[in-house]
Amino acid sequence: MKIKGTCRHCGREFLVEQVLENGGRCPWDGRPFEPDYAVVLVDALRDAEAAGNTLENALEKIADIGPEFVLDMDSILGEVRAHLERLASGRGA
Ligand SMILES: [Zn+2]
Repeated sequence: MKIKGTCRHCGREFLVEQVLENGGRCPWDGRPFEPDYAVVLVDALRDAEAAGNTLENALEKIADIGPEFVLDMDSILGEVRAHLERLASGRGA
């Protein structure tokens, strides 16, 4: 999964893998996205990419098999969307 984001400082788009390579810094302006929790942030971004890949692959496999059921999209995407919306709103913990 190629997760993309936008820097709140310079407004440029980046790939999460670029942030991982930069130790939690914006690949364009070099500013740390979260100076106090850089390690936690980088770990969580790495987890999100890996988990996203795992989820995508599993769902692709299920769809390929074509079982006699449908999956409830909100049960898979609802919580994910809620967290992303909270991130986009700028409301922290
Ligand atoms: Zn930036």
